[in-house]
Amino acid sequence: MHPGFVEWTIQAFRNYLTAWQAHRESTDTPAVIPVRPEWVVHRKLEERDSRGVLIYEWTSWGRRYRSADGSVREAWLIQLNEPKDRSAAEKTEIAHVAAHGTPLGAAERTPAETVQPQLVKVVAFGTGSAKAKPLGEWHVSATPELFREHVVKRAMAVMDDTKRRPGSNCAECKITVTCESLKKFDFLPAVAARPRGRRTLSVTDLRMYDACPARYHLDRQLGLGVRDMAESPEIVRGRAVDAWLNQKHDGESVRCDADDMLALSFPELQPDQSEQVTRMLAEHTAFCPMSETADLPPRVQPQLSAYDERLGVVFVATPDLLFRRDGAWVWRETKTAGRPIWRGRPLLRQFPQLAMGTLLLAAGVVGDLSRASRVELEHLRADGGQLEEVDPNQPEVLAEAREVIGDLTRPLLFDDRFEAKPGTGCGGCPVLGWCSPGRAHLARAAEAEVSGELG
Ligand SMILES: [Zn+2]
Repeated sequence: MHPGFVEWTIQAFRNYLTAWQAHRESTDTPAVIPVRPEWVVHRKLEERDSRGVLIYEWTSWGRRYRSADGSVREAWLIQLNEPKDRSAAEKTEIAHVAAHGTPLGAAERTPAETVQPQLVKVVAFGTGSAKAKPLGEWHVSATPELFREHVVKRAMAVMDDTKRRPGSNCAECKITVTCESLKKFDFLPAVAARPRGRRTLSVTDLRMYDACPARYHLDRQLGLGVRDMAESPEIVRGRAVDAWLNQKHDGESVRCDADDMLALSFPELQPDQSEQVTRMLAEHTAFCPMSETADLPPRVQPQLSAYDERLGVVFVATPDLLFRRDGAWVWRETKTAGRPIWRGRPLLRQFPQLAMGTLLLAAGVVGDLSRASRVELEHLRADGGQLEEVDPNQPEVLAEAREVIGDLTRPLLFDDRFEAKPGTGCGGCPVLGWCSPGRAHLARAAEAEVSGELG
């Protein structure tokens, strides 16, 4: 195990024990005995239904407890970060399973485990704090009707929906290799393969790995990062611009113009930030690609992916906008910045999203590449803007894109240790809480600052 994952696990476990203890003291629930066998609501039909199903089984994931006499059951849901509320459908399903589920595995169950309870309770726990959040309690006679009302129809809709939506889940999917909706492409012929299961990679993953392998592993692969961290003013500003453009472009082929910018207001931002966002959006009117003559509507932030079978990598990206021009799809990335694009470094290296866009267009994720296919970078500042264009049809552009993504991917594929690379990013890192090299780095930096001041 990664040392950061070990630290996280110990902390999460301690939080659980503290939350459990505090919950016991604050309620009169006698449900204190852990139940090992899973609760399952089992329903066997007389004959197969229209789906070809004979048996339905409902379960829920979490920890199970009961009172000594079996009359009260408690289901604990475990999630990352802070405990949060669940939808009515989720809560009802969990309560119904706790109320009417029978423990599977006859050999392990005790008589008290098979007693039908009278009362069930559902509690949420988040690994990031030592708090438990009660989500409600139900008398067992009430759950069947609530279950029919909130869960059954929705669950049937899920079971009957067989549409395929390629995306970041493709890496874990059982039909990835044969799936016709997932494009296959030889992304990086120059990168050696390493058979180690399948994984998903985006440009965010690659950049994060490049900055710090431990952060990539703990945050992106294991999902352990703290989620509610304060964002920098640049990120807040960029998000405001993105959000406005996404809403304006979604499903509409109407070009943004100066009139749209008259009534802009961003009350959630600081006044100076709000002014910058307004000026950036005004710059956008020069580059807005919406056109009423487009043959298909634009797609805002679609999730796109393609599979490199040799490397075992599903490459994913979410372009800001896909729109039609001259019968071809154009991939648009919009960036906000304080300064113009620096010319000292190739564009695709500075913005690997453009390289990924080039490869995914070449992979055919939005249909065959056509002569008018392009990847564009819309670079917006408060005092100006630029539009750069990349042509995925040019062999040298494709080769450069492969080099850029290949250089970022190669070291990641061959890494097993994911060592921390402490540096300037440690201060705002979402996994600092379980990264001792990062904390040591910050302590040293603070010390150096103090001794510098003294010297
Ligand atoms: Zn626009």
